Amino acid sequence: MASIKRNKFDSVFSDYIRYRDKWTCQRCNKKYPVKTRGLQCSHFYGRRSYATRFEPANAMALCYRCHVHVAEYPMEHVDLWESKFTKEETDYINHLHYRTNVKKNQIETEETYQKLRRMLNAEKDKGFTRVK
Ligand SMILES: [Zn+2]
Repeated sequence: MASIKRNKFDSVFSDYIRYRDKWTCQRCNKKYPVKTRGLQCSHFYGRRSYATRFEPANAMALCYRCHVHVAEYPMEHVDLWESKFTKEETDYINHLHYRTNVKKNQIETEETYQKLRRMLNAEKDKGFTRVK
């Protein structure tokens, strides 16, 4: 899982996913402190797939143990993924993964980076106003 080098895009996307999921593992529901490394951004289609690498519906927060578990049990991974997202969302991700060919330099642009940062900041802002 840690075989591909993480860049600034991965870093901001990972923070976005973990804030969106409220620093809670989406499989075992354990809550983690903000910025912990114990909670990871797990991709459904791995990061080698640039078409889906920075798509919110292709990723969720999982703790290390659950991340390893879903890698070992792919059918459970599918169930978990389909339980978290709508059919439209998973259809869209499947479409991107199987029907499009996105190259690294097409997706890793300044525009993508700024978009991811805006998404992250929006999630961070929610945290300030929310009671929980
Ligand atoms: Zn977990």
